[in-house]
Amino acid sequence: MAILKLYNSLSRKEEVFKPLKGKRVGFYTCGPTVYSYAHIGNLRTYLFEDILKRTLAYNGYRVKHVMNITDVGHLTSQADTGEDKVEMAARKERKSAWQIAAFYTRAFKKDLFRMNIIPPDVWIRATQTIKEQIDLIRILEKKGFTYKLADGIYFDTKRLRSYGRLWPKKMKLKAGARIEMVPGKKRPTDFALWKFTPKGVKRQMEWNSPWGRGFPGWHTECVVMSIKELGIPFDIHCGGVDHILIHHTNEIAQAEAAYGKPLAKFWLHCEFLNVEGKKMAKSEGNIFKLEDLIQKGFSPLAFRYLCLTCHYRSKLNFTWQSLKASQNALENLYQKTRETIPARGASFSPSSGFKRYQKRFREIINHDLDTPKALALLWNMTEDKKISPVEKYHLLLDFDRIFGLGLKKIKRLRIPKKVRDLVKLREEYRKKGDFKKSDRLRNEIERLGYLVEDTQTGPKIRPTQFL
Ligand code: AMP
Ligand code: ZN
Repeated sequence: MAILKLYNSLSRKEEVFKPLKGKRVGFYTCGPTVYSYAHIGNLRTYLFEDILKRTLAYNGYRVKHVMNITDVGHLTSQADTGEDKVEMAARKERKSAWQIAAFYTRAFKKDLFRMNIIPPDVWIRATQTIKEQIDLIRILEKKGFTYKLADGIYFDTKRLRSYGRLWPKKMKLKAGARIEMVPGKKRPTDFALWKFTPKGVKRQMEWNSPWGRGFPGWHTECVVMSIKELGIPFDIHCGGVDHILIHHTNEIAQAEAAYGKPLAKFWLHCEFLNVEGKKMAKSEGNIFKLEDLIQKGFSPLAFRYLCLTCHYRSKLNFTWQSLKASQNALENLYQKTRETIPARGASFSPSSGFKRYQKRFREIINHDLDTPKALALLWNMTEDKKISPVEKYHLLLDFDRIFGLGLKKIKRLRIPKKVRDLVKLREEYRKKGDFKKSDRLRNEIERLGYLVEDTQTGPKIRPTQFL
């Protein structure tokens, strides 16, 4: 079996992946902050995590996937200032914070479903684990890693020698130059573990704690939820690259300070989806939601295909043209699949060519999830004359265990007799050179929901409707 190699942000190199316990893999992915719809940049990261999970399963591992829902404590500023995003949305939309969280959680799950992203085994909400978060802060306090300011309890990063292990060198420089400071904060890198409800403010989500009424910090939530479900250390922790500098660095710091153990063995991060060279982000005003793509006639799976054309560690620049090209490619792939569907019960014995493709695919995907190369292999395979149609079909379905493009759902076309007759008639006119009549018939066929494609082996019919 080919070994699985993954790029670990912690060591900054590719490492052979081996689970901590036998064939079981503990897998934690930072989930959405549920104060608005996810944008397709966010979805790129969730899709990368889906590919990773499918690859682990493809290699025979049993994955326990935990994803959190951040329903409290994520502030509008990374510097522990600003408003709680969920409370802010509640104020704007004149709903309760709980209603906001429930509404956008549902919307997020629907997006995952439409992108054919396999849902996690465990969903866990930050507000479900407040007691455990207070317990963790208590441990940190006892060990001398905290200090109190007027607005909350802070983690003292200078006390932890290993702080910043996840930072690439170039980020270290930036971190020193960072950002606005809460008054009294000892260092820009120190972060809030517990924030007090400001005087005169009535929050909807707040709890009592040994330090005062308030709410937990976002970085504390993820440490607690991951350890609660997966223990410490667990195998893999993922997110987008923007989490490296602060969120994941601060998760690692709390786990190491409290328990003297690394939180996770592997850390993987997905690069950004950009628009015109800039990160897609709400604050940039350049976001598209999945619904926007659907409204323009695109299938969510066309966006999935587009993401697969780019390695997860490279930036992907989103354009409508590239999405259109992906939709076309996907339609072609569906057509290829349709053409190779074997008769019911047809058996085959895999040729050496079949086995070679399977082996090569595994090698490619096991090399740090190289989906662009894997797609190129798929297209080569579909054109390979040495591979029989039935073998092609089985290889397509096998590869699709990773790609998740829904090839298994493609059915053989049952073309109505009326359409078949029109295509026959059109072919006769075409052969006679009567293109006026043949074009008229083509339009009629299209009106009935089918496209005719003239190929060297005769006319091919496919439905106009995508999927
Ligand atoms: P958030 O809800 O802001 O915590 O983001 C959810 C996930 O999307 C996180 O893992 C982010 O790192 C990731 N993310 C945010 N913006 C982008 C982007 N433009 N491209 C790819 N991933 C992103
Ligand atoms: Zn997180």
